[in-house]
Amino acid sequence: MEKPRHSIRFVEEKCVGCGTCMRACPTKAIRVVHGKARVNDERCIDCGECFRLCPHDAIVSETTSYADLEKFECAIALPSPVLYSQFAPDVLPNQILLALKKIGFEYVADEAWDCELTTNALQEYLDTSEGPFPKISNTCPVVVRLIAMLYPNLVKNLVKLEIPRESAAKKFRQKASKSREIPPEKIGVLHITPCPAKMISINHPVGLEKSNLDGAIPISDIYGRLLEALKNLEEDIVLQLSSGIGIAWAISSGEIMGIRQENCLAVSGVHDVIRVLNDVEAGRLNDIVFLECLICPDGCIGGSLTVQNRHQARRKVRRLVKMFGEHTRVSREMALRLYRGGYFNLQAEILPNPLPPLDSDPGKAIQKLKQRDKILMTLPGKNCSACGAPDCRTLAEDVVLGQASIDDCVFLTLEKLKRTA
Ligand code: SF4
Ligand code: SF4
Repeated sequence: MEKPRHSIRFVEEKCVGCGTCMRACPTKAIRVVHGKARVNDERCIDCGECFRLCPHDAIVSETTSYADLEKFECAIALPSPVLYSQFAPDVLPNQILLALKKIGFEYVADEAWDCELTTNALQEYLDTSEGPFPKISNTCPVVVRLIAMLYPNLVKNLVKLEIPRESAAKKFRQKASKSREIPPEKIGVLHITPCPAKMISINHPVGLEKSNLDGAIPISDIYGRLLEALKNLEEDIVLQLSSGIGIAWAISSGEIMGIRQENCLAVSGVHDVIRVLNDVEAGRLNDIVFLECLICPDGCIGGSLTVQNRHQARRKVRRLVKMFGEHTRVSREMALRLYRGGYFNLQAEILPNPLPPLDSDPGKAIQKLKQRDKILMTLPGKNCSACGAPDCRTLAEDVVLGQASIDDCVFLTLEKLKRTA
């Protein structure tokens, strides 16, 4: 079966055509046609802004469900460090990992430890990299897609290291296959995710030929079960290996916390990320060595599949960082050995994927641009989106491309009617 192209899906029957999603979409991928939202697959980067804002639950996430655990002979949980921030202040990471075991995962891995390992590799990568700077974190799959589409010249700035959830999945699948003596494909490695976008990086990975993960289960999907499992929990084994350095990856500036570079910048939230990337493209941030960009507000704790409000979650992460310390528990020598041995190498190149011009013939494209600007001059500039496009400029572009009519503008049509009357 073909894998879904995106991590969100629009449910036509529930859509009332209010246009909230269309106005929020940063890549102008949505139009409202005949009262229903329509997505242009080529333009969607899976940021989930539409999913977050739809007031009618007409957008759903295409993630793995808890019931899918049954499909595997052995299931491994790989929880995002965000999971640790979702419970009451006195619930600790080790208890949460044990609760995951209790609800049916045979093995549970502390992904935060692998984040910590990657922090050490990142330090070495930045120390030995010759540029171009700033190097931009490749952890958020949406940021990688946004850059490939809207800032193709910045693709070369993306960090070329395998992300922690992928390297961890590869390692734990091998380990489990060996200890259970079953083929690796009978094992399901499932990320416990705070956002739908992780699913797109599994179905259509960038920088990898094939993802090492088999799916991503939303935190919100298993939260109730975990709360139940936390009652009367027997704390008989230690599963948490990470210090505060790995746990901090849940929040914006978490990746920076463990590296020794001073000239770093952390930015989160789609609109701020776009503002900062504009600055990078214009050469205004060349003094920055490392730029951490995360599309969700305040970082992964702001993901739309979490249950705790992000301010509370941030407080909890800070508490855990204080409790488990800011000194890495990963051996630097081991991290360096793995780094030099190619453990973090990407398997495939990250390629630019810019939006097509208005026409494949450059001469015609210029003509169409002029035509678009001419149409734009005739439009009222109210950007009301009543035409079904997010703003007047986009409607003008759609008209040039033959995807809309200038008569879609309600103001122009009213004018015409008045004149006729
Ligand atoms: S936000 Fe978008 S998907 Fe949701 S009801 Fe409004 S137009 Fe439809
Ligand atoms: S996920 Fe983001 S890019 Fe895709 S349609 Fe929704 S708002 Fe637009």
